Amino acid sequence: MTQFSLDDDTVTVVVGSGAGGGTIAHELARRDISVVLLEAGRHMTADDFVNDEMAAYDMLSWLDKRDASGSWRVAKDHPDVPVWHCKGVGGTTLHWSGCCYRLTEDEMRARSVFGDIPGTTLIDWPITLEELEPWYDKAEKKMGVTRTNGLPPLPPNNNFKVMYAGAKALGYDSVSTGRHAINAVPYDGRPASQQDGFTICGDKVGARWSTQNVEIPKALATGKLDLRPESRAVYVEHDETGRASAVLYVDSEGVTHRQKARTVVLAGNCVETSRLLLHSTSARFPNGLANGWGHVGRHYLRHVVQTVWSVFDKPVYMHRGEIMAGYLDEFATHDPSRGFAGGYYVELNSMGLPSMAGLLEPGWWGRDFAQVVEQYANIAGLFMSGEDMPQADNRITLTDRSDAFGVPVANIHYSNHPNDVLMRNHGYKTMRAIHAAAGAKRSIETPPYPATHNLGSNRMAARAEDGVLDGNGRAHEVDNLFIADGSNFATGGAVNPTLTIVALAMRQAAFIEGQMAAGAL
Ligand SMILES: Cc1cc2nc3c(=O)[nH]c(=O)nc-3n(C[C@H](O)[C@H](O)[C@H](O)COP(=O)(O)OP(=O)(O)OC[C@H]3O[C@@H](n4cnc5c(N)ncnc54)[C@H](O)[C@@H]3O)c2cc1C
Repeated sequence: MTQFSLDDDTVTVVVGSGAGGGTIAHELARRDISVVLLEAGRHMTADDFVNDEMAAYDMLSWLDKRDASGSWRVAKDHPDVPVWHCKGVGGTTLHWSGCCYRLTEDEMRARSVFGDIPGTTLIDWPITLEELEPWYDKAEKKMGVTRTNGLPPLPPNNNFKVMYAGAKALGYDSVSTGRHAINAVPYDGRPASQQDGFTICGDKVGARWSTQNVEIPKALATGKLDLRPESRAVYVEHDETGRASAVLYVDSEGVTHRQKARTVVLAGNCVETSRLLLHSTSARFPNGLANGWGHVGRHYLRHVVQTVWSVFDKPVYMHRGEIMAGYLDEFATHDPSRGFAGGYYVELNSMGLPSMAGLLEPGWWGRDFAQVVEQYANIAGLFMSGEDMPQADNRITLTDRSDAFGVPVANIHYSNHPNDVLMRNHGYKTMRAIHAAAGAKRSIETPPYPATHNLGSNRMAARAEDGVLDGNGRAHEVDNLFIADGSNFATGGAVNPTLTIVALAMRQAAFIEGQMAAGAL
């Protein structure tokens, strides 16, 4: 096992080993750059994962106390876990369901295309789709995304057949099983999916790409990665010139260490990265590191994510097969004639009985509820992922209570913009119509559940006045500090974000290598 000393100030310290952090750690290590990867969670393997939805949730999720406020329904229904991501080597790629779609040109020019929408803080991305496209190509190859690079699609399951029948009946042609970082055939040493429906329980089979089963083993094999699980970063220090110089972290024994650094990359998912920066105050950065312009934690995005469950006459057994392998992009493009800005995708959704019952309509009970739940076998599910509007006050802040590591507990404040509500209602209508066209007896619109697409709270922006990071994900105010998680998105787009997080992390690694070679880092 490679070990770098705490005093080694030539290493790059990466905080968080999920989609962004695990990817950049590998991409740097394979370029011969020494990396210390701090991960708050345990290092679990396929033997640890359990094919049991609730047990897997408890095992994989970040369940530390958080607060929630704002008018979003999540603050009422899920006040302790308003945001859902993982804690463990692999981050939320331990849990994710593998959908991989690209942002569009319009989405990356949201301010120019959508115009000046009151109450929003829309900006254009500081990079273009053309600049990102080669990195999407590389990311799809790395992850083995179906329908790219000659890889076959995932097969249709019953839930998809319902979606397909309904969409086709309505004249929507662009319906397919979509693109996934889940193998339909063996690829890169990983087997094909067994269609067992347990991918989000950690994936014992290993058919799905994760940083736990692909990036981190490959990075360890280079001899340039020092992986430190159960190591919670609590503070980022800077030197007298304002450059990040060390990361303080607490190990599993409760001992605090100071790891010196040449470069620091934060990738703890939106809430934790913002929290770490806000907590890292100093005389030079009294409001938190890299927060001179006050953007750290702001413009938080979670996507317009909703589900419709419908009951059919015959069994669907939606839990069988890959749970999100269905995709319709009919409403993905910006079309002002719909009455709202931005677009949304309709995708497949499926949950086990306990989660579906728990999230159906929190608080709903009695005969009607029981009658729906007891028809579980006959239920099909659809999901929408749409672009929500950035707003300055949708933000992560610190409360006055601290956790066991002495870091203030985060509050997540979110209220829907009127545009989000119009989009959500349009999406509900579309999803109900698809199921109705396939013969649904009854449809139920679920309220939003804890946010799984956490984006934008330390966004990239061409100008420091508009965001924390430049177009390379480097802090405008601290030139050896980078952010590689989804908090770096300038705007959210509509698609599931992970392919973009990976593509950006790959691009960022190449940039860091270039800067180091030029002596600028
Ligand atoms: C059930 C589920 C299904 C999903 N399905 C999809 C999908 O189909 N497609 C898609 O695109 N996206 C999907 N997502 C979202 C996707 O998983 C996330 O967008 C992505 O993993 C986020 O990557 P990240 O790098 O921002 O953070 P993460 O992957 O969450 O990684 C953050 C890591 O940082 C660690 N960390 C945090 N703070 C610290 C600290 N202070 N010190 C040390 N370590 C720390 C955490 O423990 C964690 O391991 C899904 C999410 C969930 C929950």
